Amino acid sequence: MFEDLAKCMLCPERQFARVPVPGIGDIKTKIVLLGRNPGVNEDKQGVPFIGRAGGRLNEGCVLAGLLRRSCWVTNVSKCMTPTQRTPSKECRTTCVKQWLIPELREIDPEVILTLGNEALQVFEIFGRVGELHGTIFMTDKIWGPGRVQLFVSYHPSAALRSKSIYDLYRKDMIEFGKWLTSNGYTGGEA
Ligand code: SF4
Repeated sequence: MFEDLAKCMLCPERQFARVPVPGIGDIKTKIVLLGRNPGVNEDKQGVPFIGRAGGRLNEGCVLAGLLRRSCWVTNVSKCMTPTQRTPSKECRTTCVKQWLIPELREIDPEVILTLGNEALQVFEIFGRVGELHGTIFMTDKIWGPGRVQLFVSYHPSAALRSKSIYDLYRKDMIEFGKWLTSNGYTGGEA
């Protein structure tokens, strides 16, 4: 799935990254957790969500009753950016087309947890996470109508920076877990 990812040089952002970071998890899952782009720790180890934001994601998974290893964890853009800035729109558009869409087609999920505005924008949902968190959308993008649902929440790194967002993120993840259970998703091996 990520053959040649390491060689990808399509964006100026690539010069700051040690290596593009591929998604990881269970390729047979029905649930994808989608963040923005790797940070310093992820860049060092080549694995998504392993730094402090990764800790918050793990905490969210526990609240949702999800086994993280039973999901697919990935990012909109695969390269680290300096000072953790948001990757440019051009970079995100390029990476989505080149890597994320083929990746999502291969995993073929039924549910995507969008973590932050950039993940939401992939699916052309108009609105900010601050207004839409905790809600569910059916997306027509990538797979066509009636196929994949999005659950919206904050990026775990935002939940590190703000106590009020942390509280909302925790609440969202509890609601996500309830929604998964009521729709027959067990959280993988649990
Ligand atoms: S962000 Fe994506 S498309 Fe751009 S260089 Fe990195 S891997 Fe390639």
